Amino acid sequence: MVTTTEKDGETWYQCEECEMLFDNRSDAKQHEQNCDAEDPSYIQ
Ligand SMILES: [Zn+2]
Repeated sequence: MVTTTEKDGETWYQCEECEMLFDNRSDAKQHEQNCDAEDPSYIQ
């Protein structure tokens, strides 16, 4: 799932699976479809 976040006064799009940030929604969406991190086992 892609979420939005504010950083330095700009809106960023973040992949919830791997927490990678993108500066536009279409890139984030495209990443999400190819994201391998479906298993939320990332280190907190
Ligand atoms: Zn991802």
